[in-house]
Amino acid sequence: MKKTGIIWSDRFTKYNLGEGHPMNARRLDIPYQLYKNLDFHDNHSIVDFTPVEASEDDLLGYHSKNYIKMVKSLSKAGDGYYGRYGLGTGDCPVFPEMHESSCLIVGGTLMGTDLIMNDEVDQAFSLMAGLHHAFEERAAGFCYYNDAVIAIKHLQEVYGIDRVLYIDTDVHHGDGVLSAFYSSKNVLGLSIHESPQFLFPGTGLSDEIGKEEGLGYTINIPLFPGTWDDLYMDLFESIIPCIWKEYDPEFIVWQCGADGHFGDILGHLNLTTNLYNYLGKRISELSDDCSANGRLLLLGGGGYNPDSVARVWMTILAGISGISLPEFAPQEWIDYCKKTYQIDVSTKLTDDKLDPLKIERHSLINEANSQYLQVLKEELQEVGVWNQCTENI
Ligand SMILES: [Zn+2]
Repeated sequence: MKKTGIIWSDRFTKYNLGEGHPMNARRLDIPYQLYKNLDFHDNHSIVDFTPVEASEDDLLGYHSKNYIKMVKSLSKAGDGYYGRYGLGTGDCPVFPEMHESSCLIVGGTLMGTDLIMNDEVDQAFSLMAGLHHAFEERAAGFCYYNDAVIAIKHLQEVYGIDRVLYIDTDVHHGDGVLSAFYSSKNVLGLSIHESPQFLFPGTGLSDEIGKEEGLGYTINIPLFPGTWDDLYMDLFESIIPCIWKEYDPEFIVWQCGADGHFGDILGHLNLTTNLYNYLGKRISELSDDCSANGRLLLLGGGGYNPDSVARVWMTILAGISGISLPEFAPQEWIDYCKKTYQIDVSTKLTDDKLDPLKIERHSLINEANSQYLQVLKEELQEVGVWNQCTENI
């Protein structure tokens, strides 16, 4: 059985963008409480680790000195606005300990890479991580420091990893990470997300396939609102395993945001825990079957309905660890959510399968997704990359 490291700090909940903000402390605490109550530790294959804050040198692996200085100074004030850097906006408000809690997230992600590279664990999952919308000098989409980019650069510089596969299944396009490596073939960026025609950040159409040396090493698979499990799996299988095998990555970073779940308050997809169970197993299998030899780092990403986030993350954790989840949620967890947050969470951990025929406009959704995929195929064929993989689409 694989050894999985879970990276968690109680101080992660300091990354609280406000009670009325989707990125609040309860969307993180509720999933963590479910993890604690499920108590996977008996079989010794799941081990907890507590991260420390990343240093300024670590941040400089991607962000500029001036940007870090401004985040630090506003964080100290606990309030303020600096539009040029996207700080103090509705999406990215300034809050006390903004700098410190963001550094802790980066520290957790770096810890995950080190634990895996030093063979202390086979795979790792940092629950509060995957802040994929942050840019070199711009906070965006609830993200201030881009832990994923910093960790990938760390893998390249410290461990000499030549081929990182970054897969992003958050409902939002992984713009910050994909753009950071847009002209590089040392990172294969795959993002499957709700179409930017309908959702933040407005990028990630299938004709965005990288540039210069990185042409063909960015793959975007947009999904039409309403997309359901089977459709998602068909799209995934039609192209991803083939490209994955051909690229033969040495390390996999998976931003596994839970906001594609049908219960999410920001996204508009119809995905259930059945899809996330499939993704956990399939991505784990693909990671085993390449040069990475199972080196897989998961970053929790988005998700703004705490009940969905909790069940999606635990389904993924079970999927990558070969553990079966119990059918029903622990009563202690249900009681905790009610008592602490006055929230009624699901009594069952697994969703029932959705009947696609009951989904409004289901043939339109199917058709739109095929068109997106067709554009991707044409773009890739035009530049002559992944020829074997695009033939059969
Ligand atoms: Zn998201």
